[in-house]
Amino acid sequence: MQNETIAVHGGYNKKEGYGSMSVPIAQTTAYAFRDSEHAANLFALKELGPIYTRLTNPTTDVLEQRYAQLEGGAAAICVASGQSAIFYAIVNVAEAGDNILISDKLYGGAVTLLTHTIKRFGIEAKIFRSEDASDLEEQIDDKTKAIFFESLSNPQIAVADIEAIVDIGKRNGVLTICDNTVATAALFNPIKWGVDVVVHSTSKYTNGQGTTIGGIIIERDGLAEFFKANENRYSHFTTPDASYHGLVYTDVPLPNFCLRVRLALLRDIGAAQSPHNSWLLIQTIETLALRVDKHSSNALIIAKFLEAHDKVKSVNYPGLENNSEYAKAQKYFEGGKASGLISFEVDTYEEAKNVIDSVNLFSVVVNIGDSKSLITHPASTTHSQMSPEDLAANGVNPTTVRLSIGLENTDDLIEDLNKALN
Ligand SMILES: *Cc1c(COP(=O)(O)O)cnc(C)c1O
Repeated sequence: MQNETIAVHGGYNKKEGYGSMSVPIAQTTAYAFRDSEHAANLFALKELGPIYTRLTNPTTDVLEQRYAQLEGGAAAICVASGQSAIFYAIVNVAEAGDNILISDKLYGGAVTLLTHTIKRFGIEAKIFRSEDASDLEEQIDDKTKAIFFESLSNPQIAVADIEAIVDIGKRNGVLTICDNTVATAALFNPIKWGVDVVVHSTSKYTNGQGTTIGGIIIERDGLAEFFKANENRYSHFTTPDASYHGLVYTDVPLPNFCLRVRLALLRDIGAAQSPHNSWLLIQTIETLALRVDKHSSNALIIAKFLEAHDKVKSVNYPGLENNSEYAKAQKYFEGGKASGLISFEVDTYEEAKNVIDSVNLFSVVVNIGDSKSLITHPASTTHSQMSPEDLAANGVNPTTVRLSIGLENTDDLIEDLNKALN
């Protein structure tokens, strides 16, 4: 099946249960076992089925299957937020004493999580340049457990050199994890390019209407073989897990990465997604490809308008031919589309703030991927705690304005921006 069809039908058999056309919300904490043997079989994985909503839920299960199919993966697992998806994906492979390699172009929350919070768990993050991966391989050692990057980064809108990163991961037997939140499954499927694990914040374009927080982890087929082939690095997958009566994950004929997130991490840390939020995401994923297409074509029109405006010094949008990321966007993303994120520079800090304060249609919000257009001034808000050097390293100047272009008519958006710029 093609992705547009999967987005509408994947993972749900409407002839089961009541024949409900809309996926039913299983708003329940737990599930009745037929008898004690059934219960024992479920816990021993001899039979699969729901036990408790922290671990599995039938509504969430539909979203997991649908997303795994969309990304061309073997399995998926939903969690409560994009942040918890990243955290679980990392600690599923790394422990105290290990290190991970992370891109220099990441979402701010990922940066603090990976460089500060998990450091206190004894996991060190080393930074590499994801736009060309030129300093990646030399930093890999015996304790490196994962390479983490964003396909299209938020907020820098940089495109990773995905082929180079995947090659280095494969050559060295190190797991690659790609955050595909901004590109979305509609523009890019990392697994089809050889990435091992994909994470998303479903709060952004997947939701598309700013109504829920969510996260998902998706794994490629064949990770059990990968763990066995790289046994020294990933021995906790190939040796008995004392916390699950000696279970060896690679002996279980189920996709291993999500299995361990579910059995060990959701069991113990428990950032489960609520069934209602899964249902909301099942509604919005039906229109993901349509929306991302429109976000991208709208953004290209706005980027061209800004480029021609005399108050605008420069525009950063990978859909513009003169952009440094243009060739990579053309190569990797469906139809060369580049999402709804744009940033641009004006002359002064005051002018940047004035633009934010003068727009009417754009909302001043620190979110992206909403159907409503959003605007931010990173230097005075999201990035205000950073030093001037860190700001520059993150591609943020006091004169930078960021836009997340929504689904409105571009004539109205242009009129609003034009007024605010003059
Ligand atoms: C927003 C975002 C996250 C974090 O997701 P939440 O759902 O807000 O926890 C992670 N990665 C990227 C690229 C994001 O844009």
